[in-house]
Order: sequence, then C-alpha cells, then structure tokens
Amino acid sequence: MSLPEPVQHALVRVSHSVLIDVDALAGVRERFDDEQAASLAGYLRSAQSPNTVRAYRSDWIAWAGWCQAEGRQALPADPLDVAVYLAVAADTVKPDGSPAFGASTLERKSAAISAVHAANGLPSPTRSDVVRLTLRGVRRTRKSQPRRKRPVLLDTLEALLNERPQAGPARARDALLLLVGFAGALRRSELAQIEFSDVTVDMDPRTHEPLLLIRLGTTKTDQTGKHQQQVVLPRGSRRPTCPVCAFADWADVLGGKELSETGLHRCHGFEAVVRQGPVFPVVNRHGGIGTKAMSGRAVAELVKRYAVRAGLDPALFGGHSLRAGFATQAALGGASDREIMRQGRWTNPRTVHRYIRTANPLEDNAVTRLGL
Ligand SMILES: [Zn+2]
Repeated sequence: MSLPEPVQHALVRVSHSVLIDVDALAGVRERFDDEQAASLAGYLRSAQSPNTVRAYRSDWIAWAGWCQAEGRQALPADPLDVAVYLAVAADTVKPDGSPAFGASTLERKSAAISAVHAANGLPSPTRSDVVRLTLRGVRRTRKSQPRRKRPVLLDTLEALLNERPQAGPARARDALLLLVGFAGALRRSELAQIEFSDVTVDMDPRTHEPLLLIRLGTTKTDQTGKHQQQVVLPRGSRRPTCPVCAFADWADVLGGKELSETGLHRCHGFEAVVRQGPVFPVVNRHGGIGTKAMSGRAVAELVKRYAVRAGLDPALFGGHSLRAGFATQAALGGASDREIMRQGRWTNPRTVHRYIRTANPLEDNAVTRLGL
C-alpha cells in the first residue's frame, strides 16, 4: 500500500512516539548534558504503554488519511474538521449493520489527535466545544439504542435453518449449532467451547427416545468440574429440528460420510462415535474443516449472517438470540418459570420474567381485568 506523501510525512513525525514533544526535548539537550536528556527521554517514552502508542499511531494515520482525502489539514487541525471526522466515523457500519467503532474507540481517536498536537507544542483541537459535544452526542445516541438482542423464536429458527448452504460441511455443522444453542439455551461462549467428549447420546428412561446430554463449562481453568453444568436435549418431533439427528449428521460429515437427508429420523438407535476435539470447529470458505473451535464471536456472526439471508435485520440478532429465544419460545409454549430456569441455568427469576413479558405481555397481567 502506498500512502500519500502528507500521510507519510505525518507518519515520520509519530514514528518514535506520538506523545513526546521532540522540539522541547531538543531544547533540553541544549541546556542539559546528553546523559540527563537521555534519562528524561527514556522515562517520557515509557509513559504510555506500547499498545496505546500503537493505537494512537494507527488512529493518527487514519486521521491524516481522511484529511488528505478531504483536502483538510491534519496538523494543526481545525476543531470543526475533527468533529466532522468523528461524526463520520461514528456513522460507519460493518457489513452486518453494527457500528464499526464503539464510543470508547471514537474517544481514543480524539485522544490520539490531541496527543499528537500536544507533542508538537500545539493547542488541542479536541478541547473545543464542537468536538466535546459531538462525542457526547455519540455516547447518548449509542446508549439509547436497545442493546438487547431479539430472541430467535421457533419460526425464526426454521427460517435461519432454511438459509444454510445446500452442500458442504457448514450445512450440517450450522444446523447442529443453531439447534443446540436454541434447545440448550446456551450462551455463545458455551456453544463454542463444547467438545465431543462433553456430549453423550443417552436414552430417555420413560419414553426410550434418544437424547443428547451436553456437559458445559469444562474450561481449561476449571479442571475440578466444580462449576460443571449439564443440559439435556431431547429428540425433536420433526426431523429438520431434531437435535439428535443433527448431531448424527454432523458426526457423519466429520467421519467423511455423505450427508443423506431423507426426511426420516435417524436418531433412534444412533450410537455416538468416539471423537475428540471441538464439536463446532471452524469451517473455511472452501469447506475445509479446521481443528480449532469457533470463537464465541464467530457464533454471533453466524447467527447474524443467517439473519441477513433470511431477510432479517442483523443488528437485532446475535449470539444471545438463541438463548433468549429458548426462554421466550418456552414461555409461549406454556413452560413455568421454574422449568425455563432449569434448562437455561438462570438463577434470577427476574431475568426469566423479562423474557416471559416479551413472549406474552398480557398473560398474568392485571390489565386484562380492568373491564375496559
Ligand atoms: Zn431425530
């Protein structure tokens, strides 16, 4: 990548440290001896963590690049230019529709511009009202936007399942991921961490129907198993939404077998194959299955990606949607608080009540008895 000349110039200025006033330091060298000046320079360089300096540096490059494109001056900067720059950055969105920069990142961008001005002995443009008010406006706007993710209800879940690719390993993996996340009321990090050694195929002693037992939270830091939890996933009544069938399908794909979707359940009599490693490994765009587990973030992105394909607003869906969807759909199905709390491992009834209110705002509500 070749950078425009003014950007290159700005880069050279900040290559050592964005935070040191080089001219002032030269003045120190004139008045004191080399050893004294070097001592001071060393401590000044250590004043900021390397991460901060690195972040400031890339923030400064971005700012200088924007100024170059807009025909504005980066140093010294006009406060109004800085305010417009920050507002444009605040409006920048990622492909999934979520903001590209959080409020704290925008504040850091502003701090970087301020720091480089200070290092050059210039007054900071970010202290002006227009910049401060812009940042305050961004913070308030972000705060008022609902952060809670929309629950994936059963019909949404089926819509997402329908958007899976027609072939390739992601088809089987993603069916299992969506079904386990929904039926298990799992958090995205819990989903991502499941290993094959955590999954047992068992039988319901009353109905003799197959079910999946999934052990959760077997993290590397918790070898004692003290905080271990387990969820049980019964067989689904329909083949496309049967977690046990989805598990059998995915085990087949990982074992190199062709996926056969006949529409008939295959979970009866299915015996788990012995496998190691993550249940949800990364799958690259060419259909190559990796050895590493998907990250919690990748789980959230997967839900968003299917939401887009299903014509839904991805900003409203995320990793928490499957867990929230479980509680809401269960409440719609008439489950009690206690039942919902058990599978979801919720300990605070208030959390569950929130989902139930979302599910059916009029149920158990005195407003229906007002005689209006
Ligand atoms: Zn089945």
